[in-house]
Amino acid sequence: MIELPALPYRQDALAPHISERTIGYHYGRHHAGYVANLNKLLAAGGGATGGAAAGGGATGGGATGLEELITNAGPGVVFNNAAQTWNHTFYWQSMSPDGGGDPSGELAAAIVASFGSVDALRAELTAKATGNFGSGWTWLVRLGSGGGAGGGGDGAGDGAGGGELAVVNTDDADNPLVTGHQPLLTIDIWEHAYYLDYQNARPAYIATFLEHLINWDFAAANYAATPDA
Ligand code: ZN
Repeated sequence: MIELPALPYRQDALAPHISERTIGYHYGRHHAGYVANLNKLLAAGGGATGGAAAGGGATGGGATGLEELITNAGPGVVFNNAAQTWNHTFYWQSMSPDGGGDPSGELAAAIVASFGSVDALRAELTAKATGNFGSGWTWLVRLGSGGGAGGGGDGAGDGAGGGELAVVNTDDADNPLVTGHQPLLTIDIWEHAYYLDYQNARPAYIATFLEHLINWDFAAANYAATPDA
């Protein structure tokens, strides 16, 4: 039985940037819906692993059964609902009522090493999230030892080695864990994430996310929890 994790803040905590109404639908209907669908599928024998806690975030410590489902299920409805469950838990943590500003410490150094500057990373996140066609996710990841981000996402820089940071897009429910990359932060760019507040103005949602909501502390904790490649 997968449980819907509690939001890390109140449903009105991100207003006015993301409204209580958006969070109410997004968390209470969409995220909860993925959890309910997944439990139905698992009860019907659709998954190899049951009894998982809905993790999301390396800070929880270690792989959860949910992460095993994501990496082992293969394409299909079990994967879609397991990944959407995990992705949304990770997304809520990627934002904070006290978000925005700049990263510090080891994460900031890694960002400068991989992108040149924090502003360059923000430009890369903006370009990738704006250009991610249709429904999907834009991620800051630490590349696995396998190198560039393959799979359904777009390339993460030719020749980028394990341990470097990259921005990658995924389609629909897809998750970088499938291609061996460690998510540090994500932006949900499904329309349900922003349409009530921003209508079709995805760039305004992305700009607000980066200026007011982005939770660098969460990314830094995920970075610190990732073993050196
Ligand atoms: Zn969503």
